[in-house]
Amino acid sequence: MAQLSKLQSRTEQVGNLRYPVRIVVTAGPTREPIDPVRFLSNHSSGKMGYAIADAAIEAGHEVTLISGPSALTPPPRARLVPITTSDELYDAVHEETRDCDLLVMCAAVSDYKPVTAATQKLEKQPGPFALQLTPTRDILASLPTESRSYFVVGFAAETHDIKANAQRKLFTKNCDMIVANDVSRDDSGMESDENEVTIFVRDGSSRFISRAPKKIIAREVLKIIFEIREKSLTKKT
Ligand code: C5P
Repeated sequence: MAQLSKLQSRTEQVGNLRYPVRIVVTAGPTREPIDPVRFLSNHSSGKMGYAIADAAIEAGHEVTLISGPSALTPPPRARLVPITTSDELYDAVHEETRDCDLLVMCAAVSDYKPVTAATQKLEKQPGPFALQLTPTRDILASLPTESRSYFVVGFAAETHDIKANAQRKLFTKNCDMIVANDVSRDDSGMESDENEVTIFVRDGSSRFISRAPKKIIAREVLKIIFEIREKSLTKKT
């Protein structure tokens, strides 16, 4: 028995393929502080990212889960790296991908943050209130491209022009693959337990996964990631 677990925990390398695969998954929203009691955020629950982390652990891989604030219980066998802001997520992704094989960027990162966060609670004033925002850094677009030794999967939550937007993000954000879903529907997307996704790959091909619980979607997405990643790795050998 001891011999068996020793064998199972061994890292195996065949060409460019290593087992278990070291996977970094980001999940949930970011919060951008306005003052000590208020923040900007979005509806992300973390369900899709946590389901991907669960499916990867179930398949025997090593998972680091970088998570924004979420009510969900993280998979016990994942190494949890909690973050709150997009700047913390930026640092965590750069740190954790230094030694990984695959990054699945499921987190719903705020696109803007307040120019300054007040150190004291902003008191209510009569009349309109304007908050000055500045764009957050795009984490995927900031990752190395040429020297990168890991496979990168982005997510695109869209309300319209899903195919065009996802394909543009696939290239502008230097992803190897992007998983797109329609978040305008009540029965799939951000807070829902179900999802329906289309995966776009750089060779122009796409795969559709019809509506199913996020757990099932996660297993299917992971299977496709491994298939495409394996093809790209064996091409390099
Ligand atoms: O532009 P959009 O937010 O739709 O892009 C979605 C993808 O880009 C997701 O994988 C998300 O995690 C990632 N993203 C990022 N940095 C940002 C915004 C989004 O890496 N500042």
